Amino acid sequence: MEKTYETNTVLIIEDDADMRTLFSRVLELEGYRALQAEDGDAGLRLARQSQVALVILDLQLPGRSGWEVLKELKTDPVLSRIPVIVITASAGVDQRDRALSSGAAEYLTKPISVAALRKACADVLRQKG
Ligand code: MN
Repeated sequence: MEKTYETNTVLIIEDDADMRTLFSRVLELEGYRALQAEDGDAGLRLARQSQVALVILDLQLPGRSGWEVLKELKTDPVLSRIPVIVITASAGVDQRDRALSSGAAEYLTKPISVAALRKACADVLRQKG
């Protein structure tokens, strides 16, 4: 499938600074531009301000939860077309189903390997084209 999106920017919404930095480095090595947000409000602001091809969203965030951020993204007429990879520390099947039925494109459970992150991003962006 042909890639048709106009940007290679990935927005990482994750409160853990080490994780955020690691994800950014991995994605930049893959040729993406990485934007970082440490909470949901900052993430939504960046999503609205920037052309974002993909969002990586932690579900456990301070303040507004990742679930709320996902809902906000998926009910916005413009932002809803951006695929979201949800990341979480909890592996329950119910959570996975809930995330996917809430519009997430992919669901990754921590600890997340570099290979798994790379593959999920490539798969999701390929599907989108
Ligand atoms: Mn977190």
